[in-house]
Amino acid sequence: MNILVVRGLEILDSRGNPTLWTKIVLEDGSIGEFEVPSGASTGVHEAHELRDGTEAFNGKGVSKAVENVERIAQQIEGKSFSQKELDDYLIQLDGTNNKEFLGANAILGVSVAFAKAMAQYYQLPLHEYLHRIVYDKKFSLKTHQKKPQVTPFANVVNGGLHSGNGLQVQEFMLVPNLGDFYKNTQAIAETYQNLKTLISKQYGSEATGLGDEGGFAPPISTPEEALDLLQEASKNAGYENEMFFAIDAAATDFYDEKSQKYEIIKGKFYDYKQLTSYYNSLLEKYNLISIEDPMAEDDFKGFSYFMKHVSNLGYTNPVTQSKKPLVVGDDLLVTNPQRIKTAKSKKLCNALLLKINQIGTLTQSIEAFSLADNAGWHTTVSHRSGETTDTFIADLAYALSSSIKLGAPARGERVAKYNRLLKIYQQ
Ligand code: PGA
Ligand code: ZN
Repeated sequence: MNILVVRGLEILDSRGNPTLWTKIVLEDGSIGEFEVPSGASTGVHEAHELRDGTEAFNGKGVSKAVENVERIAQQIEGKSFSQKELDDYLIQLDGTNNKEFLGANAILGVSVAFAKAMAQYYQLPLHEYLHRIVYDKKFSLKTHQKKPQVTPFANVVNGGLHSGNGLQVQEFMLVPNLGDFYKNTQAIAETYQNLKTLISKQYGSEATGLGDEGGFAPPISTPEEALDLLQEASKNAGYENEMFFAIDAAATDFYDEKSQKYEIIKGKFYDYKQLTSYYNSLLEKYNLISIEDPMAEDDFKGFSYFMKHVSNLGYTNPVTQSKKPLVVGDDLLVTNPQRIKTAKSKKLCNALLLKINQIGTLTQSIEAFSLADNAGWHTTVSHRSGETTDTFIADLAYALSSSIKLGAPARGERVAKYNRLLKIYQQ
């Protein structure tokens, strides 16, 4: 089916910064739209997000990306593509290593809007269409048989670059293990309300303001304080045995390259060996099943040491059914197939955080997933701290049977993803 029209517009994201909206109409009238997300604690190796750098919106305007969508439109309108053909063509049109010319935001906008339009053309739910491109299935099949188990990772205490408190570790997440998505969401929502009550009691109601991903940002400074809060709130909500925890250290943000030390708690400086022992103490004390970016993005020595020395869990990890905690690469991997291959050969992690705007096309995101899957890694599809109400990643997680990192059950742009999955599961 030929592409009829491609359009782009400047809209706002959940932090009030500009982002890109794209729309593709096919010749039969099928429509796909996408709103591109944006990170704050971004990896240096991510594909290039094109910003204007002019006075408007403090340099964060995306009018150049909008122009580039028009540039792309001139080349692809009137033509037909498969997803891979389109994505390969966009990469070729850009011509740079990291999508600096057209911008990863412009390219991803077109790539995902096209996928949504094609799902409509085939009259398939988006997750079903995505499932078929991932597994290269014929489009004549009705629906896929098995219900995928998408486990939510809910970031309920925010630190690092996502809040203004003294916490160096960026995210503290709830990972419920109640079997189905509805029950897991209920457990998260009830624990979240209990957490609010707890924080209000301990730190006053003024401490219940929210960080960028909808989690609370109380005036605490150590990971133990945050994990104690999560543990107590889970217990108060009646989920003591079903609730597990995950953290995203986002360690690049507290790493000093010169001294090669990590300031994981303000005023405390650890080298990668001391930091590993510190993480192990957390693993022993709490039901912590996943640590994301435990070391800085290019500290391969640190990652490799951590993988060799990280403690086994005293129980079975409900997400992977193994004794190992998840060691997740986000800034380490930036959803980049090349970085994933390196990490696999050097044994730097055992799980992929998949963010479609880190790499910039749907096809490369699927390639990243396939590489991770073939390496025996777990995958978690992830939102960004700057989001929109777009729910594409919910369908993607369902299509991949992966986990999903989607923030707290608060703030419209986060809730939209929970609600999309609740609807997929209950329809
Ligand atoms: P970001 O953070 O979207 O601000 O980059 C999310 C993460 O580090 O996982
Ligand atoms: Zn991260």
